[in-house]
Amino acid sequence: MLARKRCSSLPADAPLRPAADPLIREIVEMPDSPQQTTEVPRLTVEGACKRFSGALSAVYEDIGFAVEPGSFVSLIGPSGCGKSTLLKSVAGLLKPDRGEICWEHAATGECIRPEIGYIFQDATLLPWFSVRKNVEVPLRLRGLAPSLRDPVCREMLKKVWLDGFEDYYPKELSGGMKMRVSLARALTLNPQVMLLDEPFGALDAITRNEMNRLLIELWFRQRWTALFVTHSVNEAVMLSDRVLVMSARPGRIVEDVAIDLPHPRSEAVVSEPRYLNHVSHIRSLILASSGEALSPSQRGK
Ligand code: ADP
Ligand code: MG
Repeated sequence: MLARKRCSSLPADAPLRPAADPLIREIVEMPDSPQQTTEVPRLTVEGACKRFSGALSAVYEDIGFAVEPGSFVSLIGPSGCGKSTLLKSVAGLLKPDRGEICWEHAATGECIRPEIGYIFQDATLLPWFSVRKNVEVPLRLRGLAPSLRDPVCREMLKKVWLDGFEDYYPKELSGGMKMRVSLARALTLNPQVMLLDEPFGALDAITRNEMNRLLIELWFRQRWTALFVTHSVNEAVMLSDRVLVMSARPGRIVEDVAIDLPHPRSEAVVSEPRYLNHVSHIRSLILASSGEALSPSQRGK
């Protein structure tokens, strides 16, 4: 067995996947089948802790979990428990003070820097750029010529049901459409991993359901690894293979809940007893762990 190289965060000098022509072929052909050519790494997090300088307590503490390649895992927990900080750590944007975070290459076991798509609650579009130009940003940054960018952009917009909107500007789009542009932009580099930080939190319930359907459709076809932060227990259970429930700050994982409902899931799943049991179990875990964070007098109120 090959030795596994360890590091406390993602290696800064890890090579990025190749740009230009091979990349573009990969993207245009990416299409509607699970990833095969690009190996999706396994995530391992062991004993990770993070405390910001000057803070009285850690943000997250003693975090350990693994995410198998191509699975969909949600993180849920009270506001301020460190979900966004943990996601940034997993992306390599922040370094944990202790512990190890590693994206293991499937064949060599070494820690690598995977191609990551990152989606925030805000669509973070450039208002002076058209939809097309916004989607093209990652490709421009990789130095791809316009003739190569254009087919990728059109393909990505089709995937998020936005073909025909290439020349619109962000101010002309609804919240759901903006979020779909943001998704298309993240997909342009054919990610192996998608990190999503409450991406649909600001949307109305109907649009949110639509976005969930789109996200799960994209994931089911392409099978990147998804780490999804949400406040919605229903959303977490609907989408995920596993839900990691975090306690109030300092965030710890209080339970790793396996969602034993087969994919693809239809809307009808919400009335199944197994679905309802998961929702009620996770709600009670969140309630119990939030209660622990309250002082005895607050708990008594
Ligand atoms: P969540 O996403 O679970 O709501 P966050 O990870 O955003 O929580 O934040 C957890 C805590 O860490 C908050 O109290 C927040 O103020 C603090 N925090 C987040 N980022 C920083 C930072 N860069 N510097 C100092 N404190 C931070
Ligand atoms: Mg957050």
